[in-house]
Amino acid sequence: MKKEQKHNHSGLIPGTAMRYIFSVSILFTVSLVCNSQTGQTTTDDSDSGKRIREYIDTLEIVDTHEHFFNPELLRSTNFLDFSLLLQQNSYDGFLAAGMPTELLKKLYVDPTPVMEKWKIIESYWNNSNNTIANRILLNSIKDLYDIHDLNAATVETLSGKIRAAYSGDWFNHVLKDLCRFRYVIADGDNLGKRDDYIRYVKRFSPWLTLNTKFRIDSIAVMQVEPIYTLEDYVKSMTSVFEDALKRGMAAVKINASYKRSLYFEKVPVETARKVFRTIINGNEDLVLSAKDASPLQDYMMFRLLDLAKKHKVPVAVHTGIQAGLNNTLAYSDPTLLINLFREYPDVKFVLFHGSYPFGGEAATIVRNYPNVYIDMNWTWSISPTYAGHYLDQWLEAVPASKIMAFGGDQRCVENTYGNLKVAKKVIGDVLTAKVRSGYFTEKEACRIARMILLDNPVSFYNLR
Ligand SMILES: [Zn+2]
Repeated sequence: MKKEQKHNHSGLIPGTAMRYIFSVSILFTVSLVCNSQTGQTTTDDSDSGKRIREYIDTLEIVDTHEHFFNPELLRSTNFLDFSLLLQQNSYDGFLAAGMPTELLKKLYVDPTPVMEKWKIIESYWNNSNNTIANRILLNSIKDLYDIHDLNAATVETLSGKIRAAYSGDWFNHVLKDLCRFRYVIADGDNLGKRDDYIRYVKRFSPWLTLNTKFRIDSIAVMQVEPIYTLEDYVKSMTSVFEDALKRGMAAVKINASYKRSLYFEKVPVETARKVFRTIINGNEDLVLSAKDASPLQDYMMFRLLDLAKKHKVPVAVHTGIQAGLNNTLAYSDPTLLINLFREYPDVKFVLFHGSYPFGGEAATIVRNYPNVYIDMNWTWSISPTYAGHYLDQWLEAVPASKIMAFGGDQRCVENTYGNLKVAKKVIGDVLTAKVRSGYFTEKEACRIARMILLDNPVSFYNLR
């Protein structure tokens, strides 16, 4: 209880406070080492790994992708307890290990007691706690809450500590003080502008995956503007786009591959109009097949990219692995996007999630198209081995200026903290190996760390 009171007061638990003080003190020491490196006086290879890791620790970082719950709203949910940390990678693992989907309601919607939640997940946790997402969770609760395992004996205490943390400014504390993020880019604008360090990307799914009349009606009601024609429909997307621009949209986000293929064909306006008319003149319950709806969706993608081009807004595309169950991986192959990269050479695109598992395809595309970049967000909690292997390869195959290395893609700051720790270690290891093999000098390795963690995303997303 004493610990919780201290925690409430300062936003820090003692272990964390110690680490913070420690990391501030090494910050100065390492800056000195790196300055001396830039003078090229350092030749001791055996310590290069240590110095690179320490240099990475001094960096401010851009977190390019998150799905955080608004911390204030979190207080009124039924999952401000240990189950918060299971969002979403851990419970995706439970579902893959056979947990019935209906149980998610017991975990996240109903007011279920903590111990009952633990009993629901225990066997699935035991069958899947090998995954990196769960390793990260264990590591995070150790560092942040001084809890050394997740089990029947710890879930109550952990849940109490989580609730106590969120009664203070835990959210900003973890992101700003512990992770040292200069910017965080949220998927959606539910967090507002916190000291201006939170930016957001906007999704345009209602226009890119349309297949019902209901969807058009909903947009019209939302905008208080009737939609009768294809032109009205394009206008509705334009006004949402322009509004998002005013509110600081950092990029357009395309997550269509959960619903359809990333291949968007260039179709004549009359073909799109025919589909639009079928929908608008149809019954309320009309649902077009993927094949019948796609010409209109394709047309809208090109109009969306026209807007991105006009307003110089970058476009982030979900490529590779999708969250949840029963997805179609073939939909999210980044090579399906190539016609768009060609058609819009002035639009900057970024392939999210390191295109897992299409890392080789991603490298080839990024090398072939000056307007396409890669972002490694989420890879750290899918497979750091994949992330390290491809970072190693990408640093050989593509300009370092086209790689953005960190985004957590998490729902809570605790898991992002853990993801960052993994990312820093793997990036440090990859760069150190490249110094030891003579591929990079230590000075070059430090410069690349800074580029991929800070400079590249600042420049790509115009973060000023
Ligand atoms: Zn995401």
